[in-house]
Amino acid sequence: MAASYITDLTHFLDERGAIPADLPIQARQLAENIGEIVASVTVQGPNPKTTVTCWINKSKNPCAGKIEAGFNLDSLDIIWHCQKCDTHGTITNWENTFWDCGSDDFLDAVLEQPFLEL
Ligand SMILES: [Zn+2]
Repeated sequence: MAASYITDLTHFLDERGAIPADLPIQARQLAENIGEIVASVTVQGPNPKTTVTCWINKSKNPCAGKIEAGFNLDSLDIIWHCQKCDTHGTITNWENTFWDCGSDDFLDAVLEQPFLEL
């Protein structure tokens, strides 16, 4: 069964909204991947494609599948899914982080789109 991650983006950031310098490397990489998903979704809107490849490491090699992502329109959490290994996750508290490329106008536009089933 594929893993599911729930990530509160603010847990990776310090009080200035930056990634702390002493964050362990694995957490830093996860933060960067999750942040990239947020950036992709907030730039592109309802288009579910991201530039992120799956980082899940089940054997010796990363999965490297394509990550698709979109919004949960009930909560406005960002949800993502790997097309290859089926790992998926939810990102909360992404709004106003430095990966958030959206605006209020953008969110209004998203809310008018049909829900994307991942
Ligand atoms: Zn994968």
